[in-house]
Amino acid sequence: MQTNEQEFLQVEHFLKDHDDFLVVSHVQPDGDAVSSTLVVGWLLSCLGKNYVMVNEGPIPQRMSYLLHSDRIMDLSVTPLTKSYKHIICVDCADFRRVGKASEYFAADAKILNIDHHPTNDGFGSINLIVPDAAATVQVLFDLVKWLNLSLDHDTATAIYTGLLTDTGGFRYSSTSPRVMAMASELLEYGVDGPALSQLLLEEMTLPQIRLLTRALNGLQMSEDGKISWVTINDEDMKLTGAIHEDLEGIVNYPRNIQNVEVGLLFKVIDDNAVKVSMRSAGKVDVAAVAQAFGGGGHVRAAGVRMQGSLDAVVLQIVEQVKARL
Ligand code: 5GP
Ligand code: MN
Repeated sequence: MQTNEQEFLQVEHFLKDHDDFLVVSHVQPDGDAVSSTLVVGWLLSCLGKNYVMVNEGPIPQRMSYLLHSDRIMDLSVTPLTKSYKHIICVDCADFRRVGKASEYFAADAKILNIDHHPTNDGFGSINLIVPDAAATVQVLFDLVKWLNLSLDHDTATAIYTGLLTDTGGFRYSSTSPRVMAMASELLEYGVDGPALSQLLLEEMTLPQIRLLTRALNGLQMSEDGKISWVTINDEDMKLTGAIHEDLEGIVNYPRNIQNVEVGLLFKVIDDNAVKVSMRSAGKVDVAAVAQAFGGGGHVRAAGVRMQGSLDAVVLQIVEQVKARL
C-alpha cells in the first residue's frame, strides 16, 4: 500500500474536494464490479457526499444480498436526468468498458479510475491502478484504511464478495498472502464466508445447468488438444431459459480439461458481434490475445467483444492463441 501513497493522496483530495459523484463499473458487472461500486458508495456516504451509483444494465440477481445493490441504477431502465462532472469508475480496464453510462459524463468531467487490470490504459484524470491487486475491492480496502474509516459488516461482505469472485474462491495465482490476510480480517467482521462461497461459487440454477450441458455438447478441441472452446448463441439461451449471469463459470470447463492451455467461450451477441471469454492455464498471456483485438484483462483471464460472425471470430481468436502457444 505504501508504494501507492501519492495516488492515495490524490484520490483523497478528489473525494474530499468535490461533491455530486457518479459511480460506475463495467458493463455486465461481475462480483468485483458490483461490490466495488457499493464500497465506493459507502465510502462517499461516510464522507457526507452526494452520489449516484449506476450501471449500463442490471445487477446480477445473485448479488441482491449486497446491501444497497438495489440502489445501483440500471440505466437501460432508468436514464439519468443530468450529466455529472465528477466520475468514479471502478474495475474498468478502459473507457469503453463503462458502456452507455459514459453518455452522462459531462464534456469537462474529471474521472477517477480505480482498477486492478494490468491492461488498464489510464483513461482517468486520476488513476489508482494496482495491477498486483487480486480485485478492485482490494484497492478499495486499502483506500478505506488510508481514509481511516472503520468498516461495517455489510461493507466487509461486499469486499469479501469481490475478493472471493475475482480469485475464483481464493484459488487463482492472484491469491497472495495479502489477500488471505484481508479475507481473515473481513471474517472477523462476521462475514459469512461459507454461505457466500455456496451462493456465488457452488449453487447453480436449473437453466444454468441446462445451458452448460448444451455448451459442453458442442465442445471443440484444436488438433493438438491445447485449445478448447464452447459457443453459445441466442437459441441456447432461449431453449434453456438462461439469463446473462448464467454464463458465469462456463469457460472454466474447457480450460479445466487435462493438457488444455487455453479455454474459450464465444457468446453470440448478434449477427455481427461476439463476446469472447478466455482463460489460460498460465503459458499463454490471454490479456495480450484480447488486447490484440481491443479487449483486455489479466494474464490468465481476459475478454473482448468482437465484430464479425461467430465462425469468423472463432477462427481469428484460435489462430491468435495458436500463434502464442
Ligand atoms: P470475463 O471473460 O469473465 O468476462 O472477463 C475476464 C476478464 O477480462 C475480466 O478481468 C474482465 O474485466 C476482462 N474483460 C472481459 N471483457 C473485456 C473487454 O471487452 N475489454 C477489456 N478491456 N477487458 C475485458
Ligand atoms: Mn475485478
